[in-house]
Amino acid sequence: MQVALDQTLSPFGVNDKGFYGRFGGAFIPEMLYPNVEELRRNYLTIINDPAFQQEYRDLLTDYVGRPTPLFLASRLSEQLNATIYLKREDLCHTGAHKVNNTVGQILIAKRLGKKRIVAETGAGQHGVATATVCALMGLECVVYMGAIDIERQKPNVDRMKMLGATVVAATSGSQTLKDATNEAMRHWINNPVDTHYIIGSVVGPHPYPDMVARFQSVISEEVKKQLFAKTGSENPDYVVACVGGGSNAAGAFFHYLDEPSVKLVAAEAAGMGISSGHSAATTALGKPGVLHGSRTILMQTEDGQVTEPYSISAGLDYPGIGPLHAHLYDSGRGIFKSITDEDAVKSAFELTRLEGIIPALESAHALAALKELPLTDKDVVVVCLSGRGDKDLATYSKYL
Ligand SMILES: *Cc1c(COP(=O)(O)O)cnc(C)c1O
Repeated sequence: MQVALDQTLSPFGVNDKGFYGRFGGAFIPEMLYPNVEELRRNYLTIINDPAFQQEYRDLLTDYVGRPTPLFLASRLSEQLNATIYLKREDLCHTGAHKVNNTVGQILIAKRLGKKRIVAETGAGQHGVATATVCALMGLECVVYMGAIDIERQKPNVDRMKMLGATVVAATSGSQTLKDATNEAMRHWINNPVDTHYIIGSVVGPHPYPDMVARFQSVISEEVKKQLFAKTGSENPDYVVACVGGGSNAAGAFFHYLDEPSVKLVAAEAAGMGISSGHSAATTALGKPGVLHGSRTILMQTEDGQVTEPYSISAGLDYPGIGPLHAHLYDSGRGIFKSITDEDAVKSAFELTRLEGIIPALESAHALAALKELPLTDKDVVVVCLSGRGDKDLATYSKYL
């Protein structure tokens, strides 16, 4: 994470204007400019400060439970005729990779002298990860969540409340994630001085995508060391991860972006099928446009209205992808696969029966993408198992 991946060194790092190729930037209302500018001016200095690094690393070790294991999935490997390793982000505190980012951002907020945190959440996973670190640090926490999502995701709403957060219903638009994001940004505009906005993925205006990618880059930093210890090489043939906004994928890809022999595979949610009208397959269906402050690829109607996405997995139910991923798609560096609900559920059951690990529905999309790759018995593959499936049992139980 200390290694600055900038465009003078890497065609896949962010440039000094905040762009990845033709994607990224900070397309924000003028009212938001002071907050975003304060963050942009300070984030790299703060992150690279040795005292910050020490505190962040200690929390990752003692609170989050890092390093997470890299597990050789022998029975899955046998079935797929390749060597498959699982990066066990499901074993992180709170059950997924999201906490890697919220721990980093809460420390940034403290260094900037902020007293309050605002966040958006869809299914509630990022809201829980944010409320968790706010409890840890004793900061006030306000989480915006679509009114419909509050109905659908009661256990996470209760977790956030138990952790001391105020959950505010977003009642505008379709009352889901994109509306919660809009309202959280509005809240930040109205509370610029004492509040930090913790975005949950590699999305939003610069510097958020880069900052979140750096915090998640601990995933590939560990994979390199662990894979070297197990195989004598840091580099697998493939790294595979699911993409909602793209933070676990950004973290899993980060230290491999400039290793052309490592193929980077992103699994997006096709929902009921790409042409079903119920999908979240952003690269398959989307076009360039501006979403939540950055230029990226997003699903939209002819006249530019954001399309409501659909996926069985709440974490992949987002109409865009982060600008880094838009650039990986655009440049051909990333291989994008669209995975249906049905194929994801099937892969979730297969992993559970083969390895005794119940994956999150999101992670199951990455597992299903393995079947779309031309694997041979020489191939070494790392799959980012972004989260655990406990939260998805109500969905899985319909298939028992
Ligand atoms: C939120 C979530 C995702 C999707 O978010 P990214 O930013 O794309 O990583 C994936 N998996 C799990 C388990 C999640 O909770």
